[in-house]
Amino acid sequence: MSQLPAPPAARQLGSSGIAVSPIAWGMWRLAEGGRSAADAARLVHAALDAGITLLDTADIYGFNGSSGFGDAEALLGEVLAAEPALRGRMVLASKGGIMPPRPYDQSAAYLTAALDASLARLKTDCIDLYQIHRPDILAHPHEVARVLDDAVSAGKIRTIGVSNFTMPQIAALNQFLGHKLASTQPEISPLRIDCIENGELDQAMMLGLTPLAWSPLGGGRLASPAGATQLAVASALDVVAKAQDISRSVAAYAWLMAHPAGIVPIVGSQQAERIAEAAAATQVRWTRTDWYAVLVAARGVPLP
Ligand code: NAP
Repeated sequence: MSQLPAPPAARQLGSSGIAVSPIAWGMWRLAEGGRSAADAARLVHAALDAGITLLDTADIYGFNGSSGFGDAEALLGEVLAAEPALRGRMVLASKGGIMPPRPYDQSAAYLTAALDASLARLKTDCIDLYQIHRPDILAHPHEVARVLDDAVSAGKIRTIGVSNFTMPQIAALNQFLGHKLASTQPEISPLRIDCIENGELDQAMMLGLTPLAWSPLGGGRLASPAGATQLAVASALDVVAKAQDISRSVAAYAWLMAHPAGIVPIVGSQQAERIAEAAAATQVRWTRTDWYAVLVAARGVPLP
């Protein structure tokens, strides 16, 4: 049976001209448990040494509801200060626009200050991909676009992305941007297939956005599935995992990567071996039959 194409060795972030690995590593959980800068550096090395060049963080990562805002960025900043050469080996993505603890604020004043604070914590002059973390309904997209375009012109960011935006919100912001969106970051996993069904990935293909998938293992639920749907999805992934001698997690990343929109899964593990293992997803091949079997398990109903 014919196989779906293997992912390319590198993907482009939209039309920005920035090349990234087809799989990314995320630092949402980096600052948990009082991790030291030396331990954080080991994880950064694990990703880069495995060929994972896109590293995703956010100013809110590390926030525990009352304190810790900026901690994950600050920890990465310490790593970069101790070993400046690492900065050139990565495509650095961060996010802003959530005012802790909530709600969201993308007024010009807040967003401009948030970006400057991220740059200071990360101890870098430029964030390669700056993403609006969650949409602020009260900010006019024209105002948000102006701040982001100015940041590109000032050299503070290289390109622009969004996360958790609806399709009309993506279209509205893109309409006003001079430097068009390069990426969108929704939740996508074999346990969360909304994007595959609701047109978001089709819009990404239409606008040339690179979809970055957050929580590609459903926040870890795929590792210990519970309930009929999760068990069925796990078992459909295990068929391919067993045949190709890989873990279920790697099969899950590869399942996302086989989608024609060029999904870049953001690996969430903070264990060096699991980060390194994830890179094996580029070698996994899918047949249409196996790919659709996972989709059908996730839907819970046969194909019409
Ligand atoms: P995930 O890959 O779905 O889940 C990772 C979690 O699963 C970790 O706690 C990991 O623990 C656990 N896990 C258990 N067994 C595992 C196995 N065999 N292999 C790998 N992991 C296993 O991803 P996530 O952490 O929820 O999210 C990934 C990234 O997406 C974040 O770092 C962040 O960059 C991004 N994100 C973005 C948003 C947004 O709103 N834009 C929201 C959430 C996340 P160990 O660390 O012990 O391996």
